[in-house]
Amino acid sequence: MPRKPDSAADLIPNRPSIPSVRKAAKECRACDLWKRGTQTVFGEGEPQARVMLVGEQPGDQEDLQGHPFVGPAGKLLNRALEEAGINRSDVYVTNVVKHFKWQPRGKRRIHKKPNAGQIAACRPWLDTEIALLKPRAIICLGATAAQALLGASFKVTARRGEFVDSPLAPVVMATVHPSSILRAPDDESRHTELERFVADLRKIVRALES
Ligand code: SF4
Repeated sequence: MPRKPDSAADLIPNRPSIPSVRKAAKECRACDLWKRGTQTVFGEGEPQARVMLVGEQPGDQEDLQGHPFVGPAGKLLNRALEEAGINRSDVYVTNVVKHFKWQPRGKRRIHKKPNAGQIAACRPWLDTEIALLKPRAIICLGATAAQALLGASFKVTARRGEFVDSPLAPVVMATVHPSSILRAPDDESRHTELERFVADLRKIVRALES
């Protein structure tokens, strides 16, 4: 029986490429989340994409379809990117954790935050995506991605939209996850939150132009 690796690092192919790493990730058993999710949901985008968006983990629709950001939050993200003037072909989308963690509530599967061990086990996949794509800009979407990439004490509530010095990429920023906009209590606050999100994305456009 194959040994369960302690981390996805044991599975990264020699001389990795995005297709070979994506293929290797399909077989990942480096944490227990593979048992709960339907499939590994690896990052997607053009190899020359300048902007990498990093979320927490795939959601219900992403888990079923096998692609990142294709559910309601992904649709909102696409709308915000368009409003900000960021071409979808210039974007690579991925997550800190590549399997959907959920718990049942009636017939529904409710998102459950990944723990530190699961995030650490999965991290080599993300590090390899960053190393291969070398994006000009990395945007962390939500607290889990921001804390994984920018440090455990990073607070998105206090520092969203700020440029952060980081060895990860020339331009690095954290903002909210689009799913949080969907959870806003009413249309007016949803609209306001979407505007703030688009404003954060526009800062990335200006940084890439300068
Ligand atoms: S969540 Fe990541 S580390 Fe865990 S099994 Fe899936 S791909 Fe592997």
